[in-house]
Amino acid sequence: MKQIYLDNNSTTPVDEHVLEAMLPYLKGIYGNPSSIHNAGREAKAAIENAREKVAALIGAEPSEIYFTSGGTESDNIALKGTAYLNKEKRDHIIVSSIEHHAILESAHYLEKEGFRVDYLGVDREGFVSPDELGNKITGKTSIVSIMQANNEVGTIQDITTLAGIAKEAGAVFHTDSVQAAGKIMVDVANLGADMLSISGHKIYGPKGIGIIYIKRGKRITPLFHGGHHEKKRRAGTENVPGIVGIAAALELAESMRESEHSRLEKLADFFIDGVMAAVPNVYMNGPRGDKRIPSTVNLSFEYIEGESIILSLDMKGIGVASGSACTSGSLSASHVLTAMSVPVELAQGSIRFSMGRFTTREDIEYTISVLPEIVERLRAMSPLYTKK
Ligand code: PLP
Repeated sequence: MKQIYLDNNSTTPVDEHVLEAMLPYLKGIYGNPSSIHNAGREAKAAIENAREKVAALIGAEPSEIYFTSGGTESDNIALKGTAYLNKEKRDHIIVSSIEHHAILESAHYLEKEGFRVDYLGVDREGFVSPDELGNKITGKTSIVSIMQANNEVGTIQDITTLAGIAKEAGAVFHTDSVQAAGKIMVDVANLGADMLSISGHKIYGPKGIGIIYIKRGKRITPLFHGGHHEKKRRAGTENVPGIVGIAAALELAESMRESEHSRLEKLADFFIDGVMAAVPNVYMNGPRGDKRIPSTVNLSFEYIEGESIILSLDMKGIGVASGSACTSGSLSASHVLTAMSVPVELAQGSIRFSMGRFTTREDIEYTISVLPEIVERLRAMSPLYTKK
């Protein structure tokens, strides 16, 4: 059976061009970048070349780019690294309530460590209110972290405005650009971000590699100790093939960004309209239009649990994700949809379709064609559903 992959926000396949760029560093060039002999220098040169490439692509200086193990680590470094550094003077942290768990759980951890944390609410479409940030921020706020684009519903925040508010209060502003990179413009100066996270495997690069941008002059307490790597901010022998890969992946994604954006926008609109026309009682979560990453389409199918749709689609060869998580037999609704005030029954029936570079119109036509029968069958089993 043909497999259709509509879960690109979870991870993406490694692009052939990225793999080609990485292969020499998996085969012949194996030196430790800290070694001063030729093999080491060769590896070191590859890292510095990648650093320059990444910096140029996001409008930063090479000295402001640090390689990590992924988005989760970059987010942890930003939040904990900043919080610990400033604890004496500033013990307050602000994050949005729809952040990825890498930020939310770091924030919960810091609360246990004695920090005060405010979680900003969002409106029905997932937007943070700059006014609420303005009201919550104080001279004691150390860091504000608000994601550029949400992984479940695709909502794009007005980072420039939010970062401006943080700056005025003297707080560090971090944005998680893991779902934005390669899809919309990520330019640190434009955004006004002091710190920014990117992950390799969301942009057709390898897993286990990430980037944190740290603006010159902003300091952190390192979370890892054990070496001088990455200017002592992130100890550990560098993942050379991964670093080469993430730089190649970002470069490729940037070169295709505008054409892919308009292609995926049309495809997503076709998909949303097609599903809405073919299936009754379907609601979209997140904004329509240009304030959403177009490839992310989150739909709630009333009267059905998301997990059952996932399994049925999987049997048809289609891979998607749900907005609910099955924990010990009960479905807990997604924190993002809950924060957006989506009623729990609809949150539990939500599915995230995330398209990508390799999604075709045929894939979407097929997905639209199988949904009505699946939904009808599952609804027939629901005690809450009475056919209109
Ligand atoms: N931040 C966001 C918005 C994400 O979507 C993800 C991954 O799902 C992460 C952070 C974590 O990135 P990684 O898987 O590279 O640790």
